[in-house]
Amino acid sequence: MKTGKISLQKAAFSLLLALFLVTSFSHPTMAQSKQSLSTQITNNDQSIIFTKLNEKVWVHTSFNEWNGTIYDHNGLIVLTSKGAVLIDTAWDSGGDYQKTEELLRMIKKHFKQKVHLAIVTHAHDDSIGGIQALLNQGIDVHSTKLTAKLAKEYGYPSPRPTLDKKPLLKVGDTVVETYYPGEGHSPDNITVWLPQHKILFGGCLIKSLDATDLGNTADANIQQWGPSVRKVIKKYPQVKTVIPGHESWGDKKLLFHTLYLIKQHQQNQP
Ligand SMILES: [Zn+2]
Ligand SMILES: [Zn+2]
Repeated sequence: MKTGKISLQKAAFSLLLALFLVTSFSHPTMAQSKQSLSTQITNNDQSIIFTKLNEKVWVHTSFNEWNGTIYDHNGLIVLTSKGAVLIDTAWDSGGDYQKTEELLRMIKKHFKQKVHLAIVTHAHDDSIGGIQALLNQGIDVHSTKLTAKLAKEYGYPSPRPTLDKKPLLKVGDTVVETYYPGEGHSPDNITVWLPQHKILFGGCLIKSLDATDLGNTADANIQQWGPSVRKVIKKYPQVKTVIPGHESWGDKKLLFHTLYLIKQHQQNQP
C-alpha cells in the first residue's frame, strides 16, 4: 500500500512537472525560455536539467513544490582539473535526498568526473536539502559558520564551516570565491564568483528578471537586502553572467531588478 501511494504521488508530481515544463517552454517570460535554446542534458523524467554556460560551467536545475506551485532551482557545476565543484544540492526536501543522488549520478555519467567539493549557499532546502547524499559519498561540503549553525537548527547534517576564514577556494586550475554580503533573502545567503568566467552565482539573494516579487520572504531581512545586493554590485563590476536561485539567468540587470523588487516590496508595506 505504501509503495502504491508513493508512486501515485510520484506520478502526480511528474504530471505537474510536465505541465510546468510545457507552460514554461511555451511562455516567453517564464523560466527556461531563454535557456531552452542552449545545450541541455536531462534525465528520463526531466526532473534534473543541466544547461551549458561554457566548456567548464553548467547550471543544474531541479524542481520542487512551494505553496502549491512547482518552482525550479538553479545550482552550478564547475568542471576543474581536480574534479567537479558543486554549488548547491538539488532541491530535495522532507528528509529525502534522491534528487541530489540523481544529480551526482548524472555528473558522473556525463562529465566523467567526481564531485571534488561542494558549497551550500544558504541553509534552506533548495540549497542544502540533499546534503546527506553528498556526505554519503564522502564529498567535502563547505559553508559559512552561520549556514552550518542554521543547518543544524533545521535538522540537516552540518557542512564544514570553512568559508568565513577561507572564502577563496583553489580547486586545481579553478578559483572559486565565496562572499557573504550580509542578510537578504535569508540571514546567511552567500554568493559564489568564478573570476575566470566572470560568472556570479547569486543564489536566492538575487532574483530573476522573470520574478515579479521577492518570493519566499519568511526568513528575509528586507531592510538589509538592498545594501547587501549593492555590496555585490560594487564587488563584481566586471560580471558578465548572473545566475539567480530560481528561474532564468542573465547579465547584471538581475542585480538591479532585485533592488527594484526590494523597493517595490517596501513601498507596498503599510
Ligand atoms: Zn532560501
Ligand atoms: Zn530559493
